[in-house]
Amino acid sequence: MPPIEPAIQAQIDQILARVHDGGRISYDEAMTLYQHADLLDLAEAANARRQQVVPGDVVTYLVDRNINYTNVCVTDCQFCNFYALPGDKEKGYVNSKLILGNKIKEALELGATRILMQGGHNPDLPYEYYTDLVSWIHKTFPTIEINAFSPSEIQYMSEMGNKTWRETLTELKACGMSGLPGGGGEILDDEIRHRVTPKKIMTDDWFGVMKVAHELGLVTTATMVIGFREELRNRMNHLQRLRDEQDDSLKRFGNGFNAFISWTVQIEGTPLGRSKFASEYGATSTEYLRHTAIARIFLDNIPHMSASWPTQGAKVGQMALHFGCDDFGSTMIEENVVSAAGAITKASPVMLPHEIHRQIREAGFTPAQRNTNYEVLKTFAQTDAEAELQSIQDIEKAASAQGNWAGVTLIE
Ligand code: SF4
Repeated sequence: MPPIEPAIQAQIDQILARVHDGGRISYDEAMTLYQHADLLDLAEAANARRQQVVPGDVVTYLVDRNINYTNVCVTDCQFCNFYALPGDKEKGYVNSKLILGNKIKEALELGATRILMQGGHNPDLPYEYYTDLVSWIHKTFPTIEINAFSPSEIQYMSEMGNKTWRETLTELKACGMSGLPGGGGEILDDEIRHRVTPKKIMTDDWFGVMKVAHELGLVTTATMVIGFREELRNRMNHLQRLRDEQDDSLKRFGNGFNAFISWTVQIEGTPLGRSKFASEYGATSTEYLRHTAIARIFLDNIPHMSASWPTQGAKVGQMALHFGCDDFGSTMIEENVVSAAGAITKASPVMLPHEIHRQIREAGFTPAQRNTNYEVLKTFAQTDAEAELQSIQDIEKAASAQGNWAGVTLIE
């Protein structure tokens, strides 16, 4: 970075001092930090913010499984290498209840407390497919938390069933769904969405679905993907909409996004990867860390921030814990979307709990398993080493019996 002019440095110092004092910063102030602040000063401020919101040295993680019920999709997102068009008998699939049930059973045996279920916009699936599926999972596996269907899928199935978002979410909740992921957010600024996801949910509707979800008391998260050749103002527009929505939802319903996670776009095998601008897509690890810090500082009303090890790798994931993140994400067990587009852990993005513990400890924090609501289920202090070993051996025994995690090589 070029040397900073004294007047700008003075401005940066003033903004950072306010962050350290617990104050809110404006859009323009965040832009000043984003453009000019020293990376390590940002890390320090992001950690101060983290301590204001989530004090202590505990870093949480979730044991869960990502499950895709279908990859058939008509939306043609320019960064997606996961989907198959309707009629593609070679690549397209809709997983049967038998397959989905086996995946959930395996996950439960591995200690999972949640499934995260998402899929494409499949025109062959009627509205009733979704309510029936959630209802069946909830009745068959009553202990597993079901987080499912991004706002984009909610919008699509609502159209299929001629329902309002409220009707759809109310019915899914009644069937046993406890929350929905913030997937499909990418950059929540239509200027970018019109270019890379023109057929997908637009910004106002993404927030509209989430507003109803918050009113209905569902658990939600917010996501963000950077590296679409967007400008900083597009990123800040996304963060500003998120913060405004959170303020409003917390004030009106006492419920809002419980976490934010961002990562960098993966474009291998995608239309973006084949475009003439291919080399300009994506973002460096430094950019990811800078963005993580800015998000933590600016989004002062969203309590938790997760590091994204599946896309950034474990080492950068560890560094993100020093840029304001208080959560290391989840074991995943299975992930098929960003892996298909070249994420760093592309072969099998899985991390066993003991490996997550090691990563968190090496970064200087104390690992703890949580549930979807970020309630700590168990803290793994060093003194618990014996109990931890026993619990790890139990999990690995189950994993080996399932043959599911066996032979997985972690890429750091
Ligand atoms: S990202 Fe999702 S909505 Fe977009 S093409 Fe892929 S499966 Fe479809």
